[in-house]
Amino acid sequence: MKTKFAAFLPEIIRHLFKRPATVRYPFEKLQVPKDFRGTPVFDSAKCIGCMICVRDCPAEAIDIIRVEDVINPDAPDKPKKKFKMLLHNDRCIHCAQCVESCPTDTYIMNTDYEIAVFNRHRLKIEYK
Ligand code: SF4
Ligand code: SF4
Repeated sequence: MKTKFAAFLPEIIRHLFKRPATVRYPFEKLQVPKDFRGTPVFDSAKCIGCMICVRDCPAEAIDIIRVEDVINPDAPDKPKKKFKMLLHNDRCIHCAQCVESCPTDTYIMNTDYEIAVFNRHRLKIEYK
């Protein structure tokens, strides 16, 4: 046992003067890397309701719902359709396929990573 401890001693002493390799989470937090994929965020002003994101989402985590038609003063006979999005974040696998697929750049991925909850139904997010 003594021999083993002696063999490790230089290593132990070296690490006494080294900075810790980890952070004291949750008291300290690291910056997330560039292009980190958090949770999709939907901008209803850009959505045209094409449903490509719904089709491409591998987790069936997206519902796009038509809510109303907004009259365009420049073309009153062609009202703009308005959509809201329901994200089932308990199903989302944060792959960012919706960001890739959307032809109007309606989605961005935020940098949230502390999204765990005890009740999965609280993970539903409605973007109006
Ligand atoms: S990030 Fe992936 S799993 Fe989540 S909603 Fe978008 S396409 Fe679906
Ligand atoms: S792909 Fe984009 S524009 Fe089409 S329904 Fe989804 S969010 Fe709306």
